[in-house]
Parts: sequence; C-alpha cells; structure tokens
Amino acid sequence: MNIILLGPPGAGKGTQAQRLVDNRGMRQLSTGDMLRAAVGAGTPIGLKAKAVMDRGELVSDEIVSELIDAELAAMDADSGAIFDGYPRTAAQAGMLDTILASHDRKLHKVIELEVDEDALVDRITGRFTCANCGAGYHDRYKQPETEGVCDVCGSTEFKRRPDDNEETVRTRMQEYRAKTAPILPIYEQRDLVERVDGMASIDEVSEAINGLLR
Ligand code: AMP
Repeated sequence: MNIILLGPPGAGKGTQAQRLVDNRGMRQLSTGDMLRAAVGAGTPIGLKAKAVMDRGELVSDEIVSELIDAELAAMDADSGAIFDGYPRTAAQAGMLDTILASHDRKLHKVIELEVDEDALVDRITGRFTCANCGAGYHDRYKQPETEGVCDVCGSTEFKRRPDDNEETVRTRMQEYRAKTAPILPIYEQRDLVERVDGMASIDEVSEAINGLLR
C-alpha cells in the first residue's frame, strides 16, 4: 500500500509515519528528513537547499522528486510507502504519479491530518528530538521521564530543528496554505482522500489511521 500523509507543519505526519513503520513495516519517505540529511552531509543538494529551508520556503520540485524517485528505486517492491511531506505542490503531485507508475506502484490513499492552525506554532516551537535515536519530545507535552535523558536509548544529547522557530513556522504555514492545500482537490476528484482529526492524542490518531488502512 502506498499512502500520502498530508497536513500542515506540526500536524503529526512524521510521528504517525513512524508509527506505521513500527507497526506495519511500511517505509517512511520524508523529503524533509532526506533534505536534512543532505544538509548535514554537505552534499550539493544540501548546500543548495539549506538557505531555502532556513527561510521556511519550498525547495525545487525537481530536487525533491529526484530524492523520492531514488528512494523508491532502492526499495523492496512489496514494502508499502508512506509519503511524508511530499508532494507539497501540484507539480510534485503530477511528478509523483509518473514516478509511482515507473516503479509499478499506485497511490491507495491520501490521509489528511486536520488540525487547528493556532495550536501548530505551539506544537512546533516546543519540539525536540534525541540526537542519537531520533525519539521525539516536547517542552510542554512530552518531556523525557528523567530530565535530560532519552527514554528510548539513554542518550543525553538532544537537538532542535533550526527551522522550528516562530518566524520560519509562519512562512512554512503560508507555503502550506498557498501551495500544498490546493493539491487536496486533485486527490478528492480521484476519491482518494480520508480525513483524520489531528488534534486527538497520538494514539487516537494512529488508531484512526490504522482503521483506514484495514
Ligand atoms: P519538513 O520536515 O517536511 O517540515 O520539511 C522541512 C523543509 O524541507 C520544508 O520547510 C522545505 O523547505 C523542505 N521540504 C521538505 N519537503 C519538501 C517538498 N516536498 N517540497 C519542497 N520543499 C520541501
């Protein structure tokens, strides 16, 4: 099964994708993670993308679509794909159709996480992750059980995304509204869209998504 998780920044796409990876053995294809890895490694794509990402704007359709194509090419034919943070423009949605067809795959569902935008800035500006294993935490909603120690791996190193500051988050929201939300009708016409209340707890959202994939 190949699905898209769609929703504004902070809607919980990454968290839910990780749940699907853990519970259903699907693969998460996050263009944001791929780009951050490229930035970290200082590759030509990373060097090009860094300033754009720091501003909260969108990286070019070609770059992100090439990343997705390469990941799918390296994937097992029977692993399901979760597209997290891709497509983000109508052009990318068109490119994804072509890419999926070239890998003999089809799109089964587009799951939109519906959220209250006012809550998103609060969610995003408080989040941080374990620098070693990537487990997610939040200043106000999910501190590690022992302060300063990761619950999962015991590491004491944590990190925050440089684009998780209020100013950049506002730009990321505007980009979502202007360029990403308009792709929903494309998928609605194809009868692919399912909606989930993204303001519910992580477990409830994950249960709702599982119900849709049964
Ligand atoms: P994310 O981790 O999905 O929030 O993405 C972080 C940043 O990476 C975004 O604000 C964009 O600058 C860039 N990015 C990630 N995915 C895409 C995409 N599909 N198209 C364009 N830019 C992207």
